[in-house]
Amino acid sequence: MSLIIREIKAESILTKSEIPGVDYCINPYVGCAHGCRYCYATFMKRYTGHIEAWGSFVDVKINTPEILQKQLKRARMGRVMISSVTDAYQPIESKYKLTRQCLEILLQSQFPVDILTKSPLVLRDIDLIKKFKDIEVGITITTNDEKMQKIFEPNAPSIIARIRTLKTLHDNRIKTYAFIGPVLPMNPETLSEKINPHVDSIIIDRMNYASKTLKIYQRMNLNEWLEKDFIDDIIQRLKNGFAGKPVTIC
Ligand code: SF4
Repeated sequence: MSLIIREIKAESILTKSEIPGVDYCINPYVGCAHGCRYCYATFMKRYTGHIEAWGSFVDVKINTPEILQKQLKRARMGRVMISSVTDAYQPIESKYKLTRQCLEILLQSQFPVDILTKSPLVLRDIDLIKKFKDIEVGITITTNDEKMQKIFEPNAPSIIARIRTLKTLHDNRIKTYAFIGPVLPMNPETLSEKINPHVDSIIIDRMNYASKTLKIYQRMNLNEWLEKDFIDDIIQRLKNGFAGKPVTIC
């Protein structure tokens, strides 16, 4: 699928957040080339007027650094999440470096930061990340099964690349967490064994079953994954795998 890229100007970059523990969100892009099938951020299309398929467009907010500088001058100190409705380290970030510029600006005033991504590109910014007094980097890993990952997250980095990213961050003494959400078909023991050495904490989130996801599950005869008890058991087994570490279940 070819990617439609547009450069746009944003009116606001630092937006107030209702995510628990997060005061602000920064999303330097609209849309996400990772194109995950379960992505809840597709609701953005209702507000932005995009008719293209999710994953096939990215709007680049080219004035991100300038707007962020202005907004931070008036903002109260608070935790900033990068990012909530896009992946700030999707491939186009390697060209535009907007996320890196946001980190440079946030670092000037030491705003606490929470980065959540699926991409090893975050390692490019490890020099900046290490300079923050309060920063945490989360890597989303939803399954240990490469086939499932390719079906649900067709353009996102591989599971192994994400685990290696966690390891590098952790080896560099950066606080890390794995975001296991949504819980996809998996072997919870294998997944927790691979991730556990490289994280300080875990967040687990259930699938929000959009009709598209339901159809994929039904086509693949994965109906047990629609049962609450079945998922509860998987979550409990994941929790057991991370025994001794803080586990948050959304
Ligand atoms: S990486 Fe995140 S924002 Fe991007 S498509 Fe996947 S779920 Fe959505």
